[in-house]
Amino acid sequence: MEKKNTWETYEAKDIKKLEKLCAEYRSFLDNGKTERECVDYIVNLAEEAGYRELAALEKTGAELKPGDKVYSVWMNKSIVMFQVGRKPLSQGMNILGAHIDSPRLDVKQNPLYEEGGFAYLDTHYYGGVKKYQWVTIPLAIHGVVVKKDGSTVELNVGENEDDPVFFVSDLLIHLAQEQLEKKASKVIEGEALDIIIGNRPLVIDKKSDKKSDKNGKKDGQNGEQAAKDAVKAGILQILKDNYDMEEEDFVSAELEVVPAGKAREAGFDRSMILAYGQDDRVCAFTSMQAMLDTSETDRTLCCILVDKEEIGSVGATGMQSKFFENAVAELMNLCGGYNELALRRCLAHSCMLSSDVSSAYDPSYASSFDKKNVAYLGGGMVFNKFTGARGKSGSNDANAEYIAHIRDIFAREKINFQTAELGKVDLGGGGTIAYILALYGMNVIDSGVAVLNMHAPWEATSKADVYETYRGYRAFAAGADDAKVF
Ligand code: MN
Ligand code: MN
Repeated sequence: MEKKNTWETYEAKDIKKLEKLCAEYRSFLDNGKTERECVDYIVNLAEEAGYRELAALEKTGAELKPGDKVYSVWMNKSIVMFQVGRKPLSQGMNILGAHIDSPRLDVKQNPLYEEGGFAYLDTHYYGGVKKYQWVTIPLAIHGVVVKKDGSTVELNVGENEDDPVFFVSDLLIHLAQEQLEKKASKVIEGEALDIIIGNRPLVIDKKSDKKSDKNGKKDGQNGEQAAKDAVKAGILQILKDNYDMEEEDFVSAELEVVPAGKAREAGFDRSMILAYGQDDRVCAFTSMQAMLDTSETDRTLCCILVDKEEIGSVGATGMQSKFFENAVAELMNLCGGYNELALRRCLAHSCMLSSDVSSAYDPSYASSFDKKNVAYLGGGMVFNKFTGARGKSGSNDANAEYIAHIRDIFAREKINFQTAELGKVDLGGGGTIAYILALYGMNVIDSGVAVLNMHAPWEATSKADVYETYRGYRAFAAGADDAKVF
């Protein structure tokens, strides 16, 4: 089957829309480097677009009617949006789903220590990372520190030009003979991924017994001595001054260490985007935007953006949580006619595009891919009939009848798409959230955007694929109907 390059299908007016969408996408990436930041950003956009919080409506018992828009956030890390359709909910919804967590280094609960004159934060990586990719690059710290009194301090250090950044050291090449003999999985070990956060000791003025400020104004020859762990003490002083935070507050903090810097256009032709966290924020952004841009439809629309996919969709904010089902039940209650059977029918008769990134063909590693069944950068929106590993284990498998229905919608709306597997059959694989929603019996297919160097600190996508996928979501939102499948 011949694959079209999506760029060739566009006219000037399409390119204009594409550039606008991709500029908004980059802004989403720059403002959403953690799940919490993504949820904040999405809530702001949703409220501007007239979405109301489900929990508030539950209290007043307001009755929802077609066209009404609501959202629900769970633990600040997952969000689901609904737009009520003209048909009863029990006839099913059209669901767009993606995840907003990305691989990174998480700061441990007792992280701060000093060694050899450096202050460090000990980390534990989150999701699948090639550890050697995380050394010697500028890193930023994003997250929250929740104190015992319940107050929350938000941290975001390393993104502004005049912010400091952080880094993980690596051994100089001159002494790396032994290191370079190691397997790539052992070159940098997990416990070596601690970030350097300081190198300047706090100086104690003995006479006044007062600590000098961090600019060392009390530096001098007399009456001063370095305290034990004085660099760590200096960092603690800064944390106290800037965030009113004590060392023990790390216990109830969620601090994520991510690559510092903004999403960039890539290539002389500016055809690509190079950025952190595109797995899976590229699908999250395009799904959300498609939802915001779609007006009242026959079937109720739903967009669910979840946490924890990278570590198995676990926990209260992962896809396996009952959060989604509970939100649908609450929605149905406000629409009138909630009962257990209606809820089950709603879920069973829903159609879903479960979106996640797919690996793009990389000519430098050609032998890892089946060229006939891999996604190409610029090849359009990607469909994976199945994912999984070692003989499709852990996969959803989209029904042929459902795929035919999607093909029909996409042909009518002239959406350029490609079908793909992750890579060669025996080389590995991965899972998504698709199989979890499929447990309700609904039709689900894995779809999304191709990414080059997926899971690296900086991942690449094609602007054309971002735009085409957005168009695909819009076509699905308005056109999918399980009645055409059964
Ligand atoms: Mn993913
Ligand atoms: Mn991933």
